[in-house]
Amino acid sequence: MSKTVFVLGAGASMIENLPSQAEILKSIFKKEESDFATFNPTLLKTGERYRRARINIAEFIIRLFSNKNYFDFISDESALAEIETLPMAEKYKLLDELKKDNGFLESIYEYIAESKSHITLEDIFTILDKAIASNEHIQGYDTSKIIQLRNDFVFCIIRLFVKSSVNQSFDSQTYLNFIEKIIQKRIEAEQTGDPVSIITLNWDFIVDKYFSHVVSSNSDYEKAKLDYCVYDHNYHHFFDDSDIESIPSTILKRQGYYNVKLLKLHGAMNWLLCKNCQRLFYSQEKYIAFEEFYDTSAPECPFCTKNYSLSGDRNNTKLTSELITPTLLKNLDNVTFKNIWKNAFVELAEAEKVVFIGYSLPQADFEFRYMLKKAIRPTTNIDVVLYHNDDPNKIKDLLKDEGDISKFTANVSETRFKSFFGKDDINFFYEGIIDYVENHL
Ligand SMILES: [Zn+2]
Repeated sequence: MSKTVFVLGAGASMIENLPSQAEILKSIFKKEESDFATFNPTLLKTGERYRRARINIAEFIIRLFSNKNYFDFISDESALAEIETLPMAEKYKLLDELKKDNGFLESIYEYIAESKSHITLEDIFTILDKAIASNEHIQGYDTSKIIQLRNDFVFCIIRLFVKSSVNQSFDSQTYLNFIEKIIQKRIEAEQTGDPVSIITLNWDFIVDKYFSHVVSSNSDYEKAKLDYCVYDHNYHHFFDDSDIESIPSTILKRQGYYNVKLLKLHGAMNWLLCKNCQRLFYSQEKYIAFEEFYDTSAPECPFCTKNYSLSGDRNNTKLTSELITPTLLKNLDNVTFKNIWKNAFVELAEAEKVVFIGYSLPQADFEFRYMLKKAIRPTTNIDVVLYHNDDPNKIKDLLKDEGDISKFTANVSETRFKSFFGKDDINFFYEGIIDYVENHL
């Protein structure tokens, strides 16, 4: 039976109003109602950590990506004149005091949200990763501070996702139909079949969440399960007092389930990993990656706690989040990612049809582009589902008065796909995922 592989990019998650990568920095610093106002216990658990992380990130942005220093945010002329007369040590002390003042910090955060939101995450993470990998310091930041900053960024990004999930309803009919069609295809192929799989470059749990929703609302689908293609463990089996089973993905098929492969190439917010034994824990209910950052009661690996609890420091068994951040120096070396990427390669190589949804083939994803190039055969059919603002004809209309429009359309997604795959018979759909699922799937 012929195989279809769906590749989901950021545009595929737009339907659920998640923060896009381009908006993450702005979202971290925009003024918003306090966690107290929304009274979310999960967010409140990390309130102090969040306050410190924002101070650290703001300082990094001001130091590396602006021509200002903190004293430029003081508008009182006479105060500034007085500061000028202070010795250096006194100035630093004063700065430390200022950083405790919410009003002062807010003025800096506002400046970053308004004037610095175009700084890309690729730039930030590549700089940090390069410094860590080459054991160098940057502009006064030593290695331990750089690692701290990197953690602060990851923490703030996960927190944004947790925050956005509070109001997510997961009732999009399009997504429900999309997942249901995939489950049906899988069941039609019978237990040994393998007609469809999903590769995602997103961290969110939209597919996971809709999948469990569809499965639990129809008893015909009760034997369908998501397959992350690693030997994984159900978080709720180990950490909640529930009788939920934990059946590792890699043995689902053997146990008679209809496995639907979901390959999360950049990791996921609903995963936690033990860096000691490399076991992966997943949840289809919540963004457990966030729990790494709980001030107290951060989850520990149940296996390693048992095996090594007599031999010393229990902190070593804490579970950690595992996200591949947008960087040009991606580290895909751990066992989990090696397995996932290897499986994704096989899926793409076996595919008769690959459907890219909301994915624009960015240069920064060069590892994935390399895999596409290696795996996809010349005869494989390719569908690309994008939105109106990617449509070159729409762009041409907007630019019809320009003499040479080629320079504007040379870098649109359509040109990128055609030149990358070296063929013209790629089907482009510019009406978005809703139209594609309703009319072309
Ligand atoms: Zn472990």
